[in-house]
Amino acid sequence: MTGSMKPPMLIAGAGIGGLAAALALVRQGYEVDVLEQATEIREIGAGIQFGPNGFKMMERLGLRDAADHLAVFPDDLILMDSVTSEEVTRIPVDQPFRDRFGYPYALIHRADLHKVLLDACRDTGRVRFHGGCKVESFEDDGDEVRVVTSRGDRFRGAAFIGADGLWSRTREAIVGDGRPRISGHIAYRAVLPIADVPEEYRRNAMILWAGPKNHLVQYPLRGGELFNLVAVFHSNRYEEGWNTEGDPQELRERFAGTCETVQTLLGKIQTWRMWVLCDRDPIRDWSRGRVTLLGDAAHPMLQYLAQGACMAIEDAVVLAETLQAHGGDVAAAFQEYQKVRYLRTGKCQMMARLYGEFYHADGVKRDLRNQMLASRTPAQAYEGLAWLYDGV
Ligand SMILES: Cc1cc2nc3c(=O)[nH]c(=O)nc-3n(C[C@H](O)[C@H](O)[C@H](O)COP(=O)(O)OP(=O)(O)OC[C@H]3O[C@@H](n4cnc5c(N)ncnc54)[C@H](O)[C@@H]3O)c2cc1C
Repeated sequence: MTGSMKPPMLIAGAGIGGLAAALALVRQGYEVDVLEQATEIREIGAGIQFGPNGFKMMERLGLRDAADHLAVFPDDLILMDSVTSEEVTRIPVDQPFRDRFGYPYALIHRADLHKVLLDACRDTGRVRFHGGCKVESFEDDGDEVRVVTSRGDRFRGAAFIGADGLWSRTREAIVGDGRPRISGHIAYRAVLPIADVPEEYRRNAMILWAGPKNHLVQYPLRGGELFNLVAVFHSNRYEEGWNTEGDPQELRERFAGTCETVQTLLGKIQTWRMWVLCDRDPIRDWSRGRVTLLGDAAHPMLQYLAQGACMAIEDAVVLAETLQAHGGDVAAAFQEYQKVRYLRTGKCQMMARLYGEFYHADGVKRDLRNQMLASRTPAQAYEGLAWLYDGV
């Protein structure tokens, strides 16, 4: 508990969203307590793609140089047909792309992005981290929020932000819309040293190998030292669970019929981590009084747009700026924040599902996809993505 006279802002969750929110709030003059259920505050996982809208927000947080430093900047985003091994389309993300959107497209290790945010929070001296603090309940009396953790710690703050992810307890309490939707799609992820990848497969590009009911994504990470692979397929075998070990045999079965490159890349991995992919239908109301949600807690989406982390950082910046604009009126600020955010994040939730269908198309749908994209120019591709990458 803080000794400060002015109650701080309380955040549940030290993921990318919670940390970005803590930093954005400090930049607006607040003190913050971050309560994280894990004893150690760190991020696991593999690579993420980071669009120009994410860079725009990192700039607003004063972390543009740090983000540039972490990033691999690919030349192209390429869609391949994994059955024929033919290129379907490519989006150059070189200088004309940067000129169009004002910011680059990058490939970043999730742990590196998390560390940059964590270090920046620590450097301010105004964010207190509390590991091993699982938020159990909270009470909003109209003047302040009191939070209790599962081991009995108590915190008081001017507001409480649930950045507690897909399985958010905060959401359960203020929205109460049950469990997330299990999509029936499974992701296997692995990162391997670039030396383990045959030279002909090392490309400075994000390549998505699209197959019937499956796809494989490959890209370089950390200055090209690492190689990131994400294999996704349809399966109703799993109920839930994330970051558990995957079964290579299942992967071989699901990707039977794909081309030699895909088979070779899949064969490079001995140990996969598995995620059961979930999302939710969009909602417009995720705030109650002095309590609100942020990131996956508010609008969990499938990863097909590569935007969940970017949206969490956008939320953080918008939330802090809205609070500032409303002076001390937290409840009004939280209403305004969700009003500004729900259509944009809801569109991402819906578009991500659509992109998933598109990538996994089979039969005539696959032929149609390939035909439609074959004649697309880079300029047309940029305009199609402008709603997203122009940012907030
Ligand atoms: C396969 C895959 C690929 C992806 N690729 C991309 C990509 O390329 N680009 C992109 O932008 N996004 C991507 N995403 C999405 C992105 O990872 C998430 O949207 C983002 O990490 C959400 O951040 P968050 O902080 O909201 O939630 P989380 O990262 O889930 O953090 C929530 C935190 O809250 C803590 N917590 C939970 N409950 C409690 C509690 N009761 N009390 C205290 N703490 C609690 C958790 O321990 C955790 O630290 C991908 C996701 C997946 C699954």
